Amino acid sequence: MPLTQEAVRAWLQRCAAVLEENRDYLTQLDAAIGDADHGVNMDRGFKAAMARLASLNAPDIGSVFKTVGMTLVATVGGAGGPLYGTFFLQLGVKTANKQELTPHDWAEALEAAINGVIARGQARPGDKTMVDALLPALEAYKAALQEGASFAEALARSAAAAEEGMKATIPMIAKKGRASYLGERSAGHQDPGATSSYLLLQAAAETWADAA
Ligand code: ADP
Ligand code: MG
Repeated sequence: MPLTQEAVRAWLQRCAAVLEENRDYLTQLDAAIGDADHGVNMDRGFKAAMARLASLNAPDIGSVFKTVGMTLVATVGGAGGPLYGTFFLQLGVKTANKQELTPHDWAEALEAAINGVIARGQARPGDKTMVDALLPALEAYKAALQEGASFAEALARSAAAAEEGMKATIPMIAKKGRASYLGERSAGHQDPGATSSYLLLQAAAETWADAA
């Protein structure tokens, strides 16, 4: 079954809840190799986005995602705000005028979102950023669909790949963002942005397991 606007909103609600639950964890990860604000940033941004969505009578799914993206850009500073803002704005571009999303629509939207993050931040795989969770997740999702997996199964495999990608950032030396200022001392710590990306994709797999 395709995803409705209601299902999309349910995912975003779940994201907000999970980011609130993990606010201190994400902030601790950022304290080790950054400036200890990633959890606070994401929690604040998603709370603001949920408040905006509550009063938004959206004509299509794209408007929902665009509202989240614009709110994140406006309320979250630093690197994470503009990057996640771009992610959701690009989801919005690909889902403009759509009332439903098929598994294939989600592949296209996710791909555009990740390409937007890469275009904006210029991070390559292995640079110890959110891209290291997002790209493997996209690839696993597309591979699963090609193999004929169900939507739910493809989402689950995508979240599992994001988790692996997140863990793989631990030994990496950061090449982008604040953590790169630490050079080799950034090794041995899990990247906060890769961790929040995993949480968002895991939330999608959980929320959409029944819809899909
Ligand atoms: P800031 O670093 O400005 O304090 P956050 O703490 O909210 O912003 O976000 C930090 C996360 O942003 C990092 O853990 C990393 O995953 C991600 N990040 C930083 N720079 C880039 C980049 N150029 N491309 C992709 N992701 C990046
Ligand atoms: Mg930070």
